[in-house]
Amino acid sequence: MSAAADVAARATAGFRQRYGGEPAGRWAAPGRVNLIGEHTDYNDGFVLPFALPLRTVVAAAVADDGRWSVWSELDDEPVEFGPAEADEPGRVDGWAAYVAGVVWALRAAGHTVPGARLAIASDVPVGSGLSSSAAIEAAVLAALVELGGLDLPADRWPRLAQRAENDYVGAPTGIMDQSAVIRGRPGHALFLDCRTEAVEQIPFDLGAAGLAVLVIDSRAPHRHADGEYAARRKSCERAAKALGVAALRDVATGDLEAALARLDDTETRRRVRHVVTEDQRVLDTVELLRAGRIRDIGPLLTASHASMRDDFEITVPEIDTAVEAALAAGAYGARMTGGGFGGCVLALVDADAADAVAAAVAAAYADRGFTAPGTRTVLPAGGTTRLD
Ligand code: ADP
Ligand code: MG
Repeated sequence: MSAAADVAARATAGFRQRYGGEPAGRWAAPGRVNLIGEHTDYNDGFVLPFALPLRTVVAAAVADDGRWSVWSELDDEPVEFGPAEADEPGRVDGWAAYVAGVVWALRAAGHTVPGARLAIASDVPVGSGLSSSAAIEAAVLAALVELGGLDLPADRWPRLAQRAENDYVGAPTGIMDQSAVIRGRPGHALFLDCRTEAVEQIPFDLGAAGLAVLVIDSRAPHRHADGEYAARRKSCERAAKALGVAALRDVATGDLEAALARLDDTETRRRVRHVVTEDQRVLDTVELLRAGRIRDIGPLLTASHASMRDDFEITVPEIDTAVEAALAAGAYGARMTGGGFGGCVLALVDADAADAVAAAVAAAYADRGFTAPGTRTVLPAGGTTRLD
């Protein structure tokens, strides 16, 4: 059985076992990885994520009592809640908050959400930066929209799922994750302008080019990631203010040196330089991909990593080791992806060299005494869909 069929079968089996009977349908949403554009989202800039062939599947059916019951294979017991709990952010906590948050966001937008029984299985690793959170939100959203026959076109789903995560769960994320997992398309990356929320599908057909992306889970222990993230955001906001722009996205690449000269501390200058050059690297990557020059984006990926390491200062030894080892083993480019201080590295490789690059990274890790990394080879996959 393929991995995709397996996770769907687990969702169905979970449904039968918990609730009895058959689900009315199954809905799937993928994880995502950001190809390039890090810490640009809250600076009104550009990102370029793509959906992964790893999915969260929800098997679901309407419940006539108007309440919600949700089971995940990550937990033993189902969680139950009704409209009163759904209408008050915080009342449902833990993992089920991601589900209650979707119900809340739909109801807050004026929709009549049917009660439902939901069973969830997933291949998206939880908490490693591949956006299992957006995957569960999107799969649940798709299920509830269809079970209720709600009039909600898919281009409005990302905003709604983001509200669930921001306002019900209480996690301050941008709109990238939800956009990527909802709108992803096989063989494409999603170019997203975080200011206008305009999206464009950019050809990124790795398979046809004999290429693949190796995703390396650094397994690095999270080190103060939340506080450091908040500090970076604050530093960017302060810099934008000092420069008299709405956001760092408004500093043109050609004006960067002049802008830096107007800032008085070297740390802030480095932060600004990362954001402005990273936006430009996203635009340059998009241009190369439009021209079908996938291999040529390698140096941009690697430059993005150097900028995160030296200017934004958000990498850790495990991450830098993985990038260096992947490059030494022949990757066209490699970079940390995600907010930093742990999470994943991605490397652009020839498909038939992926195993050798993965082995080289594992060997470098062993040399340094780090916990062994997780590695998987991926191609850009499709977004949120109904399975059957
Ligand atoms: P990431 O999105 O990078 O995987 P987050 O911390 O944003 O990490 O989201 C992870 C959280 O999302 C989990 O701790 C859990 O609460 C919830 N979650 C994700 N997938 C599932 C799932 N299949 N079942 C239950 N909860 C899930
Ligand atoms: Mg998340």
